[in-house]
Amino acid sequence: MGALQDQVAIVTGASRGIGRAIALALGSEGAKVAVNYAQSSAAAEAVVAEIMAQGGQGIALQADVAQASAVDALCKAVLDQWGQIDILVNNAGITRDTLLLRMKPEDWQAVIDLNLTGVYLCTRAVSKVMLKQRAGRIVNIASVSGQMGLPGQANYSAAKAGVIGLTKTVAKELASRGVTVNAVAPGFIETDMTEGLAAAEILNAIPLGRYGQPEEVAGMVRFLVADPAAAYITGQVFNVDGGMVMA
Ligand code: NAP
Repeated sequence: MGALQDQVAIVTGASRGIGRAIALALGSEGAKVAVNYAQSSAAAEAVVAEIMAQGGQGIALQADVAQASAVDALCKAVLDQWGQIDILVNNAGITRDTLLLRMKPEDWQAVIDLNLTGVYLCTRAVSKVMLKQRAGRIVNIASVSGQMGLPGQANYSAAKAGVIGLTKTVAKELASRGVTVNAVAPGFIETDMTEGLAAAEILNAIPLGRYGQPEEVAGMVRFLVADPAAAYITGQVFNVDGGMVMA
């Protein structure tokens, strides 16, 4: 029996990349997993099929988590299906990279709307449920970009730095009710998001000399939500970045 037997998890942006790996990791621990996606319904159904093949339970749920009404509908669908929400992983994210002077207001806004406001909307909706349950685990996927800044990512690094601040405040607000809130800050992970980036230049900035794999980020998330030893950890940021950021 897995550590997350009888627990319900929502993973946003779980059709591909890091979110997919997190959904599979939580499913393999016995969690019932809501696999959220924006557009890739076939990919999300494939993730659910993989969870089922491991003997777990999952459902694919479409929702643009930058929209408050869609987030409320997502939570309602999960509660209708399983009656509780124990884990939220705020993973959905996009990039619209370009240098500041060329960055259009819509490039700025789209990234803030999903990568920061989306985290606020999902956290607010789910924390209502967790406060009543007096238990819960929330993990926000931030980025090294929010800690060190990366050229071309003014919108993205601002959103991810915002996620780190949000993580700390919400951790303080929810601590007395048994809910922990932490952030994981990946470096460069091999997914669709990083495909086509100039590899040689990036590899020089990574002490371990390689991109990370989605499963390596999922391993940290699994620890934070499934391991009893993580119960005393809240408001922290954990880097999974090959050594890029050393505080
Ligand atoms: P990815 O491969 O591009 O996958 C993005 C996921 O987000 C997909 O499942 C996508 O769903 C979903 N998504 C996009 N817009 C959405 C919306 N409006 N509502 C709900 N879901 C939406 O990205 P990734 O590399 O796995 O990144 C996952 C997270 O890690 C992001 O927060 C990203 O910022 C962060 N991160 C990534 C890296 C990296 O190197 N890859 C580094 C640091 C941080 P569809 O398939 O339906 O489009």
